[in-house]
Amino acid sequence: MTFLIATGNMHKKIEFERILSPLGIEIKTAKDLGIELPEVEETGTTFEENAILKAESGAAVSGYPTLSDDSGLSVDALGGAPGIYSARYASMSDDNADDEANNNKLLSELGDLPLSQRTAHYVCAVACAFPNGETLVVRGECHGHIGFERRGTGGFGYDPLFLKGEKTFAEIPPEEKDAQSHRSVALHLMSDRLKEYMGDKI
Ligand code: IMP
Repeated sequence: MTFLIATGNMHKKIEFERILSPLGIEIKTAKDLGIELPEVEETGTTFEENAILKAESGAAVSGYPTLSDDSGLSVDALGGAPGIYSARYASMSDDNADDEANNNKLLSELGDLPLSQRTAHYVCAVACAFPNGETLVVRGECHGHIGFERRGTGGFGYDPLFLKGEKTFAEIPPEEKDAQSHRSVALHLMSDRLKEYMGDKI
């Protein structure tokens, strides 16, 4: 069965495919299907609301069951910031800031707080909206600490600062990150929800 993924990000498409294709789901981007999705304003106040907005818009426009995700970093000492604003944390406008600037801002906000007070978690909400108006949503989290300086060259976003034990997410191979990431946790939960919801329809 064909499902649309409401993102043009090929890395996400590959990760969704890896986890959901064993269910018999074929993941297609809007480009693969020859349709154009309207830009969706992320006006939600939670990761879940933003994922649902994107999935429901995609399902309404395309007529396909539509998957989408919304993710970010939540730092306890900063009251959960940058949260849903993770991509544009260091930006003065609604535009995304670059990873370098976001990481600099995070380091400066945390100053010299000790490691025990630098707890943080990545969050990923994955939504799946069906053309019949029903929507499933799940949330995955991955807990760690924010380090004192960047380490490693892999990953993206806040990964050079995100410590899982001794190493940052930018210092470990991608398969190792994928096995424990917030996105992987959410996708496995979505896989279970889809099995329950679709039964033998997929
Ligand atoms: P989006 O949901 O792909 O738009 O991600 C929002 C922002 O959250 C990204 O721009 C990153 O700053 C941050 N983020 C989400 N997932 C990750 C991750 O796995 N590693 C590092 N940063 C992430």
